[in-house]
Amino acid sequence: MLFGSHISAAGGVDKAPGRAREVGCEVFQFFSRPPQGGPAPGLTMVQIKAFKDNCKKFKQVESYIHAPYYINLASSKNTVRYGSSSAIRQELERGSQLGVKYLMTHIGSSRDVSAKQGIDYVVEGLDRILDGYQGTTQFLIEISAGAGKVIGDTFDEIAEMIKRTEKKKAALKNKIGVCFDTCHAFASGYDLRDKPSVKKTLDEFDKQVGLARLKLIHCNDSMAGLGEHKDRHEHLGKGKIGLKGFEALVNEPRLKRLNLVLETPKDTPQDDPRNLKILKKFRLN
Ligand SMILES: [Zn+2]
Ligand SMILES: [Zn+2]
Repeated sequence: MLFGSHISAAGGVDKAPGRAREVGCEVFQFFSRPPQGGPAPGLTMVQIKAFKDNCKKFKQVESYIHAPYYINLASSKNTVRYGSSSAIRQELERGSQLGVKYLMTHIGSSRDVSAKQGIDYVVEGLDRILDGYQGTTQFLIEISAGAGKVIGDTFDEIAEMIKRTEKKKAALKNKIGVCFDTCHAFASGYDLRDKPSVKKTLDEFDKQVGLARLKLIHCNDSMAGLGEHKDRHEHLGKGKIGLKGFEALVNEPRLKRLNLVLETPKDTPQDDPRNLKILKKFRLN
């Protein structure tokens, strides 16, 4: 189990590995395009080489891309649905050029269509994203939080989207993985506050989705309480999950093969180093 954080790629993706190393990351995550919208900046061969060289130089074992925030595969608007799937496909291709291991995205919300229509749109979108894709960056659905008709906030909904996509096209079998965000899962009602609750939540995940599909963990404490359906990240130990939960997560045998990425607040330059130190200490136990 290796630890990292979401790192700024301001000024070019090749700047991120050095910043990751500086705060104590062993792996890192970044945005490869403006998260609020706009086109992806071009990637030159020089930049791609500099990114890969810097990952080696600064001892970053793996890297991951977070898709932009405006993605909605369940929108009633064609332009939003198709724009979302094409942006994700671009990110997968860009990630493959950079040697990035995973790309994760939130699925969106079916606020202006029925829940059934929403899932149908998502399955079509997942098919569009992955159809003919030959790259090496693997696509992950991130468990979401939030009120209303947000899609992908329960294990059975995630399982349904994946299984229906695989059924639609056999070639997509095992192509879709899952990113488990502790804050989102907790806000969606899955307890993680101590060893027994972490075990129970993972048992449930295994039963519904399958632990083999779990590829990465976003490690965030939650300002909101269990099942409050609010997406508010907090520093480890300062939220409603608490340190006991994160200690249990780091020491859960079924998670040993996975890496953890912080998306905790960055109010001061000391925040990431402090949160990473907490995780590294748990790993020694
Ligand atoms: Zn996350
Ligand atoms: Zn979040």
